[in-house]
Amino acid sequence: MTKFTLPRQDNSLPAPYRGQSPGGDRGLPESQYQNYQLANSQNFLETEDQSLLSGFTLAETYRLAQPSDALEANMAEALHLSRPLLSQGRLADYIPELAKANPDLLGLTILATDGSAYQAGDCDKPFTIQSIAKVALLLKALQLGGFAQVFSRVGMEPSGAPFSEFTTLGDFSDKPSNPFINSGAIVLSSFLAAHINFETFLAFLCQICNNPNLQLDPAVYNSERRTSERNHSLAWELKRLKLLTADLDLSLDFYTKLCSIEVRPRDLAHFGLCLARRGQDAAGQQILRAEDVTTTLALMYTCGLYDGSGEFAVEAGIPAKSGVGGGILAVVPGQYGIGAFGPSLDRNGNSIGGINALKILSHTQGWHVLA
Ligand code: GLU
Repeated sequence: MTKFTLPRQDNSLPAPYRGQSPGGDRGLPESQYQNYQLANSQNFLETEDQSLLSGFTLAETYRLAQPSDALEANMAEALHLSRPLLSQGRLADYIPELAKANPDLLGLTILATDGSAYQAGDCDKPFTIQSIAKVALLLKALQLGGFAQVFSRVGMEPSGAPFSEFTTLGDFSDKPSNPFINSGAIVLSSFLAAHINFETFLAFLCQICNNPNLQLDPAVYNSERRTSERNHSLAWELKRLKLLTADLDLSLDFYTKLCSIEVRPRDLAHFGLCLARRGQDAAGQQILRAEDVTTTLALMYTCGLYDGSGEFAVEAGIPAKSGVGGGILAVVPGQYGIGAFGPSLDRNGNSIGGINALKILSHTQGWHVLA
């Protein structure tokens, strides 16, 4: 574990967002929290059908929350248990440049609101942010346009469909289901492109990620530009529905650029930490409105992992957003910002190892926000 410098958490924050210890979100001291978990695990076994636990041992399902010193060891164990899955996934080869990634990589960085930093696995290789940028896109659109303008253009419902799905447009609705499917993100990219240039958006992302040096990966940008027929089709449909604010080519270019920004797990962990701190950046500055953070976390929880969102909400129970570059941004409100990376993807387009490792960690650490 290493320490990084972070101003003290603002204690005026509402209690649910303040937890510094594993039991903090339940307002219990650590020792009582362990008893609380134990009591609950016993109740569960006494009253529920044992078959619900099939495939899991009691220890794996309801292990006592570990004190945070054990977090780094638990991260390493979660990665170790998840590595065998990597060979079952595949790279996002529909963007040719992404098919060059090493599918064996898997890493995690976690930053805590008390200033502790934890790292395990492969955290040094850069990758493109892809759909995780849609979280910053939503935050910037909320900042510039406000809630009503944003949600007059996109919905707030899970689509239950893959990221580039068409069916949520046109016949049954007049706008994309949510801001995290491609059509919703192209609508918001168009809205932003009409008001700011890409450099201003990049500066915003740099601030949230606490890294002034983020930049575009030109190889991935050009690769996606050459193969973005699907996104072009979506953009034309959006134009027909009068949902584009800026010119079609400018809107698509803005969208493609923001997907091509290069990050590392630590950048995503800082992004998550800013959300965990309800919009305070690493310097203690309030850079996001707390209500915009709440809206964004709710959408990450319900729509952040495409048609894998429901399962992750049940099994891990923390807000998260994935990208086809293999990144995952996750947040334990009031406690941790998390950046995961593993380019081998499951059938939903989410990092197969990253998703599994986060599910294991959420169980071992007692992170489920609804538990
Ligand atoms: N740039 C990717 C696309 O538009 C993003 C997809 C994703 O990460 O889910 O296809």
